[in-house]
Amino acid sequence: MPSLDGKVAIVSGSSSGIGAVIVRELSRRGAQVVINYPFEAEKRNAEEVLKTLGGAAKAIMVEADLSTPSGPSKLVDAAVAEFGTIDILVNNAGIGVPIILQDATDELFHRIWDSVMNLNGRGTILLTRAVLKHLAPKNSRIINISSATSRNPEPNMSIYAGSKGMIESFTRCWAKDLPRQYGCTVNTVAPGPVDTELLRSAPPHVLATVMQTCNSTPVAPRLASPLEVAWTVAMLCEEQAGWLNGLYIPVAGGSTMT
Ligand code: NAD
Repeated sequence: MPSLDGKVAIVSGSSSGIGAVIVRELSRRGAQVVINYPFEAEKRNAEEVLKTLGGAAKAIMVEADLSTPSGPSKLVDAAVAEFGTIDILVNNAGIGVPIILQDATDELFHRIWDSVMNLNGRGTILLTRAVLKHLAPKNSRIINISSATSRNPEPNMSIYAGSKGMIESFTRCWAKDLPRQYGCTVNTVAPGPVDTELLRSAPPHVLATVMQTCNSTPVAPRLASPLEVAWTVAMLCEEQAGWLNGLYIPVAGGSTMT
């Protein structure tokens, strides 16, 4: 029997990139998965992800913009209507926007602050709050996707890095507050640069900085594969990982050491 047979997993922001690969890995291990995408224009990508799931377990797609106050509960309500309970929450949805603090207009600053914080910060805590009402009482998991950038920042990423630092603090708080009441563990997975379409299409000066990190990575001069991140998330979901709680796990070939 697959190791996550019977589990129900929500992966936020899973119509592309790392989230899509996490969904595939959890499904391959037998979990029933909820694919989340933010708006109509992203629906086709979500459908492609749904088509590529190899496992026999059921999967659904839910449109919910997690940067809005009501998006997180919309996602959870749809998941619960289909599956009744939730065992695994992966808070993956996130955006990163560079900003030169001293040059940005006030208007631009507030636009970037609101978009990054509303999704990465508020979206993560609201989604978790909504899931707690339905979290399975035993061996459940909350996994927050941060970024090596919070501890090892690239230039001009202070809002993004701050939002990821916030998520790491959420992990530490929840890892103390929640396990005895909910039977869960709470951990952070923090990738370094990952080989996604988004990263490959980044502006040349951003790519140049990323390549510097790559070239000095102890294990090898390369990007992480999305599957290496997904494997780490899935490993934390296994029953045998029940004693791992409150961790910060960099998936970065040693370029971040904490
Ligand atoms: P991506 O842009 O490829 O995917 C992001 C996903 O989130 C997409 O499916 C998108 O549709 C969804 N999304 C965007 N806005 C949303 C919203 N408002 N509501 C719901 N879903 C929304 O990004 P990615 O590179 O796969 O990043 C995934 C996570 O990994 C993010 O939290 C990111 O910060 C983190 N991360 C990425 C890298 C990297 O190098 N790619 C490195 C470290 C951390």
